[in-house]
Amino acid sequence: MKKYVYLFNEGNKDMKNLLGGKGANLAEMTNLGLPVPSGFTITTEACNEYYQNNASLDKSIIDEILSSVESLEKITNKKFGSKDNPLLLSVRSGSRVSMPGMMDTILNLGLNDESVKGFASVSNERLAYDSYRRFIQMYSDVVMNVSKSFFEKIIDELKQELGIKLDSEFKVDDLKELIKRFKKVYYEYKHEEFPQDAKVQLIGAVEAVFKSWENDRAKVYRRLNNIPSDYGTAVNVQVMVFGNMNDLSGTGVAFTRNPSTGEKGIYGEYLINAQGEDVVAGVRTPESIDKLKEDLPDCYYEFVRLATLLEEHYKDMQDMEFTIENGKLYILQTRNGKRTAHSALKIACDLVDEGMISKEEALMRIDAKNLDQLLHPVFDSESLKNAEVITSGLAASPGCCSGKIVFNSKDAKKYGMGGLNEKVILVRLETTPEDIEGMIASQGVLTIRGGRTSHAAVVARGMGVCCVSGCGDILLDEENKKFTVGNTEYFEGDYISIDGNTGYVYKGEIAVKDATIEGDFNRIMNWADGIRKLKVRANADTVKDVLKAIELGAEGIGLCRTEHMFFESTRIVKMRKMILADNIDDRIKALDELMIYQKEDFKGIFKALKGLPVTIRYIDPPLHEFLPKKESEFIDLSKEMNLSVEEIKNKCDALKEVNPMMGHRGSRLAVTYPEIAKMQTRAIIESAIEASLEDNIVIEPELMIPLIGDELELKYIKNIVNETAKLVMSEKNHIVNYTVGTMIEVPRACVLAQSIAKEAEFFSFGTNDLTQMTFGFSRDDAAKFLDSYYEAGIYEFDPFASIDKVGVGSLVKLAIDLAKLSREDIKLGVCGEHGGDPLSIELFHKLGLDYVSCSPFRIPIARLAAAKAVLSGE
Ligand code: PEP
Ligand code: MG
Repeated sequence: MKKYVYLFNEGNKDMKNLLGGKGANLAEMTNLGLPVPSGFTITTEACNEYYQNNASLDKSIIDEILSSVESLEKITNKKFGSKDNPLLLSVRSGSRVSMPGMMDTILNLGLNDESVKGFASVSNERLAYDSYRRFIQMYSDVVMNVSKSFFEKIIDELKQELGIKLDSEFKVDDLKELIKRFKKVYYEYKHEEFPQDAKVQLIGAVEAVFKSWENDRAKVYRRLNNIPSDYGTAVNVQVMVFGNMNDLSGTGVAFTRNPSTGEKGIYGEYLINAQGEDVVAGVRTPESIDKLKEDLPDCYYEFVRLATLLEEHYKDMQDMEFTIENGKLYILQTRNGKRTAHSALKIACDLVDEGMISKEEALMRIDAKNLDQLLHPVFDSESLKNAEVITSGLAASPGCCSGKIVFNSKDAKKYGMGGLNEKVILVRLETTPEDIEGMIASQGVLTIRGGRTSHAAVVARGMGVCCVSGCGDILLDEENKKFTVGNTEYFEGDYISIDGNTGYVYKGEIAVKDATIEGDFNRIMNWADGIRKLKVRANADTVKDVLKAIELGAEGIGLCRTEHMFFESTRIVKMRKMILADNIDDRIKALDELMIYQKEDFKGIFKALKGLPVTIRYIDPPLHEFLPKKESEFIDLSKEMNLSVEEIKNKCDALKEVNPMMGHRGSRLAVTYPEIAKMQTRAIIESAIEASLEDNIVIEPELMIPLIGDELELKYIKNIVNETAKLVMSEKNHIVNYTVGTMIEVPRACVLAQSIAKEAEFFSFGTNDLTQMTFGFSRDDAAKFLDSYYEAGIYEFDPFASIDKVGVGSLVKLAIDLAKLSREDIKLGVCGEHGGDPLSIELFHKLGLDYVSCSPFRIPIARLAAAKAVLSGE
């Protein structure tokens, strides 16, 4: 029979898939002989069973859980639900991959009207009744959906009646009164008494944790981190220890190295006489762990000893939770700590230098996706000189940003990225996991409460969003959407700036500039370069971007989008003039004007590349992106074309397409207006000749035709290109070794790759369009309905961000296999957004592509991901 429940001494660290990360590590620590409160883990398979069983727990699983409770009773000599020496439990989630704060936890389980008395007699009355009232609150909220706000209201009312301010001022009788009122509220909402049977409480809590796997915040987090839903969560049931028993007790979170800087040494936070959740939820601002050295030195040194042992055992920086109960230290959790990209590099290099791990292991430890954090902008030092510091908090997640203040996630989504695309900073008392979507939409997060290990900090660091936390000087008035520091008020929409590296908060907007890269970064990149098989190119169409890309390690340009060269306001008018021309003469005139810009730009790019390869994509302007929209744009164009605004509008109307993404763009433009392809070819060949003569460099441009769907279509355009190139080369009496290839962006091209490859010297997969055309989802509009697909569990991830392996991936594979049949040495690359996505890169490596091409800032990600793809395939 399948086993669904494992006592901690039955598991080990390699059982993460089954026991979740937390469960596997609790088992490992138990076996190492560390002081871990006893417990058991209900497996991730039980979670999947639960969902397959219409969200209900099978009786056999329940029996296994209850028999494991009996084992705990024997180990601890306590009785579950009993009034004598009761066994109290914590119930926590723990999936394979850590998802901090995304799922639910229930503490103090097993307390009821009777067992609370027993607990009081073996601990103290205040702790017992305080724990019971906390349990009712937590259980009602998490398991029974009776919102915690009802209970908070009761607490506030009683405080007012008693004339007290703090929870700690409640006396035992006050706590008993709270419990009475809590139970009354519970009855009002649930029409039944608060459950007294400890077993019922436990099964309810386990089910609630399983349910929380599918809550909104967990789903968003999974999507963001590409965690599949069939991983499921395990549930860890563990004997409670009380950090809030007395002043010889406490709780904390600590790392073996600083997660922001990577510096070696114990780094963490702790609170005396408090329960763990107070620290993690950021309800109280904790003190540095150094304070533990003063308060309870023996516990401190014991903790340092165990932390060092754990780091040596796991050979990685550890993030640990601990609790001290009446002078005795317990370790509640250890895991490989989340860290900023900067510290990830330092820790990886240090561990190699300390002889703990190999270079290959070091690379595998670094999350490639996070590397772009290193490239985050910093404040411009000139602009910073004049900036006024309002206050400061904890430097919780690196980066610098300016933005308009918003006070809740809804407004962050409305005004920020994905909404009106303004720069916003989310200001919260403390963030709750529900704020994750608001954080995604914001440039930065500022919280009044909470330490460096609060949810806000951990999640922001993971996402690379800059965060300052624990700004205690700020008085927040959420209701009126304002905050006060000293005598100054700040309202929604006012600009502030925050520095997640120093913790400073500034008034107004401060200019930011790009970060520079140095130190460990280069070492890691060199290691990765020595291993990877995929080459890494950049998508760039300006000299500035090309230079940035080379600085970041690009080995060439995989996509130069020539239409992007005309975005600038004086050029776009000429481009529009060309699009709106209704006869060949006018079009050629407009093209002649464009060619001047085009040649100048190509020359700049060739020179910047100093002979590195470059793929120049022929113009591909979907009309909806290029036709004028604003009145001022119509006016500018009417002046340029000597026509009335009315006439311009009519021309635009006549060109409007129902499906511009599938409209008159890409290769279709070259077929209808060959003069465009002629102009572009002339511009490329002439500038290549000039740049190579001026700078004495060899330039072999790769000329790329977009959106091809047929061999004859490519052949037709290639003829135009070749004829023109021949003409220019004979005019200039200079040979340019150019190649002609195509983008593979429509499914038909994949299916007909064998014949298309006859005409193409290279293929570059345009996976943006290929995804759009394969799914039949508009890449501009998919976000509007994809949420419903995630909700319904049909798709789990955004296929435009991470390649759809089974669909689009299969088409890419088919195209490669077919293409090689007619041209064995065909050069293969990818230049869609997926070229900078680690998961997609893994697939491209497996499929044997020659290179990936991505935006300049993702080059380091691609270099590392390509090396990791090799290592994980070995
Ligand atoms: C693509 O479609 O993947 C591509 C790179 O081209 P564009 O994004 O310019 O359509
Ligand atoms: Mg495309």
